Amino acid sequence: MEKVYDIVIVGMGFAGYSGAIYAARYGLKTLIIGEMFGGQTAEAHIIGNYPGFEEITGMELMQKVQQQSIKLGVEELYERIEKVEKQEERFVLYSREGTKIHAKKVLLTIGVVRKKLHVPGEQEFYGKGVTYCATCDGFFYKEKDVAVIGGGDSAVTAALYLADICPNIHLLVRGDKLRAEQYWVDKLLSHPAITIHYKTSVTKFVGTDALTEIHTNNPELKTLPVQGAFIEIGHEPNTVFTDALGIKTDEGGYIIVTEEQETSVPGIYAAGDSTTASNKFAQLLTAGSEAAIAVEAMAKELTT
Ligand code: NDP
Repeated sequence: MEKVYDIVIVGMGFAGYSGAIYAARYGLKTLIIGEMFGGQTAEAHIIGNYPGFEEITGMELMQKVQQQSIKLGVEELYERIEKVEKQEERFVLYSREGTKIHAKKVLLTIGVVRKKLHVPGEQEFYGKGVTYCATCDGFFYKEKDVAVIGGGDSAVTAALYLADICPNIHLLVRGDKLRAEQYWVDKLLSHPAITIHYKTSVTKFVGTDALTEIHTNNPELKTLPVQGAFIEIGHEPNTVFTDALGIKTDEGGYIIVTEEQETSVPGIYAAGDSTTASNKFAQLLTAGSEAAIAVEAMAKELTT
């Protein structure tokens, strides 16, 4: 007999596991699916704004929510969902690995993908000096001079993380100000290994076998010799399902949701950074809250 889940959650980041905890506590049969565990949160080297934890690594926080979910009976499946179909009152999800899953309700917590600079050399030197994740790849640039591109929380926290292992960090900011939390900015400004270059955009990544220098539009910094470049310029929504399912998005591709986090396709809900909810304030607190709101609405529908 085929197994039918009350709720299938697609996406194994913070929103996904937060929703899973709520769903399991409502007594709903819940499956969480993803290709990889942890989402963006797992890449954060330090989180200092999640209430209850003065400082915690992203991976540690994710492992805590995962353990909590599993203890409550949530099932996990490490596969990539490639298609979701509506069949009468149910949904059928198909994975790349060949699994077919039946769900009464679906919660999409599919997050965002990293923005690219789209400049010459970016693709050519990807993995050979150019990277998009300081916590994942920083170790390979230990004792080397590096640049971080961006001016938000991601770039500033990446620069601070690298400052523990690299002698010189150049932060390249395209505008004339930083957009990060003041707490991080204060730490950044007082760090002797970090130099900030405002009004500086990368025009080209240059090297032979690996990156050796960055060209910029700043007349005072035409070339910058570095062995590593960390692009931390924000994210854009993951549109992997929205197009295929006909889910309505805004002009930026963010999933439009109701106050109950339901998408334009009845029965499919969405939470976290890929949605228009919470004024698009992409934080752990908002992602978790959105997932809780979605699950409460789904639970009401499933039990009445
Ligand atoms: P943001 O959108 O907040 O910032 C992106 C930064 O990259 C901006 O400085 C922007 O410049 C710059 N940028 C964007 N496109 C380009 C480009 N093409 N070339 C050069 N620079 C560019 O993204 P983040 O990833 O930093 O943060 C996303 C969310 O995650 C935020 O809500 C943030 O608060 C949260 N976060 C929180 C952390 C924390 O510890 N509290 C850690 C990491 C993320 P400009 O200002 O000119 O537009």
